[in-house]
Amino acid sequence: MLKTHTLIIGGGLAGLSAAKALEGKKDYIVAERENRPGGLAATLTKGGFHFDYSGHLLHLRWPETSRFILGALGKNCARIRRDARIYAHKSWTPYPFQANLSGMPDKVRSECVSGFLKAYNDRRQPRAASSGQDEAPEVFTRWTRRVFGGGISKHFMLPYNAKLWQYPLGRLTTEWCAPFVPVPRPEEIIEGAYGKKPVGLGYNTVFSYPKRGGIGALPSALARDLGGLRLGLEVESLNLGDGVASVRHFGPVHFKRLVNTSPLNEFIARAEDAPAAVKRAAASLRHNTVYVLNLGVKGVKSDMHWGYFPEECFPFYRAGIATNFSKDLAPRGCASFYIEIATPGSALDLASAEAAVIKGLKACGLIKSAGQIVEKLWLKVPCAYVIFNRERAEALPVIFDWLKAKKAFSIGRYGAWKYSFMEESVKEGLEAAAAILKR
Ligand SMILES: Cc1cc2nc3c(=O)[nH]c(=O)nc-3n(C[C@H](O)[C@H](O)[C@H](O)COP(=O)(O)OP(=O)(O)OC[C@H]3O[C@@H](n4cnc5c(N)ncnc54)[C@H](O)[C@@H]3O)c2cc1C
Repeated sequence: MLKTHTLIIGGGLAGLSAAKALEGKKDYIVAERENRPGGLAATLTKGGFHFDYSGHLLHLRWPETSRFILGALGKNCARIRRDARIYAHKSWTPYPFQANLSGMPDKVRSECVSGFLKAYNDRRQPRAASSGQDEAPEVFTRWTRRVFGGGISKHFMLPYNAKLWQYPLGRLTTEWCAPFVPVPRPEEIIEGAYGKKPVGLGYNTVFSYPKRGGIGALPSALARDLGGLRLGLEVESLNLGDGVASVRHFGPVHFKRLVNTSPLNEFIARAEDAPAAVKRAAASLRHNTVYVLNLGVKGVKSDMHWGYFPEECFPFYRAGIATNFSKDLAPRGCASFYIEIATPGSALDLASAEAAVIKGLKACGLIKSAGQIVEKLWLKVPCAYVIFNRERAEALPVIFDWLKAKKAFSIGRYGAWKYSFMEESVKEGLEAAAAILKR
């Protein structure tokens, strides 16, 4: 029987960061079910190409985590100014759409500008006293029309988000919007529609990325000296009250403290002693699934980092060219593409999806012919974007109150069931370790 002070489920960035902070100070085990560390931040190699699970760019915002991440990467890190675009109405325009309408045809541009100004004026009118019905969380369809107006909503916000979330936008709540959807001022809208220079807004105008090895260079650097990292170990069930986990092909592991980074709904389903109300809450959580088609392509001319595709005739919501942020990702003379397709969880017919992707890449001019493609790798992210809805808002306090009573942490993008970045997973890993060391 194996005993450890802290059991960490999952060796993605959250689990690795927690382990790194515990190393040499507390006895711990990271149980990672795959045979490699990194979780979604891993990089896979095929035919001389290094493919990430779609674009995984470092958006560093906080001093302590920036130091930790940049310290792990050392000299293997570049800082890059974003070149992101939107393709709609047979035209490219810089990201974000709402601040860069200049690339759109005249009719679309004036519909978007006048709609925004009307919504802006409406927002400035004194509001009637609340009838009480406004107390429910605002849903995305209403929020986008209120904030951006009819034109921007129709031409970008609604079709793009419908494709990404794969969930009715009239039921999607908006807690996730503030950090991810920039809201320009009226003068920025006008400048972006009729001025000469792109308006750079949003959380990621500059990002960092490893010079070599893809984003997987970061988890590899963190994992290097971790004595407690165990690959190929899947936690199948656990009892938080008894402090014991059952690990596939291994047996019981006894622990005093637990840090979970696996998806919250699966974790609670595995927790034998979770009360029925907690199990019900976890079962109500929803997420989408993303399929990433990675392509090795020769003869690519574009300098763009990534593009957003709101229109239905494109099966993907985003496509990027990873070699435009690191040449090391492909053999000389080749580029590496990542193309993201979301489903509500249903299986994707990969052959027909691939044909539709190639048609789309040709239609927007990123490639001329399928003959340019020299390598491909499909990757699936079963739980990719967690759905923000009323059920989530009601379920999380029920689940986290129970976990708190059991002194267990559930952290990271999926452990905490949120829309977050790699840096936030690192931050939560460091914070969980600090809390464990304090007691
Ligand atoms: C399409 C897409 C694009 C993204 N782009 C970016 C980006 O550009 N920039 C950015 O900062 N972030 C991006 N992210 C978010 C980023 O991937 C995550 O924030 C981060 O990698 C999550 O790390 P984590 O450790 O919290 O979770 P994960 O990486 O999911 O790690 C959890 C680990 O737990 C393991 N595990 C699960 N169940 C068990 C079990 N029962 N037993 C043992 N092990 C288990 C898994 O194998 C996995 O390794 C993107 C996410 C997606 C889906």
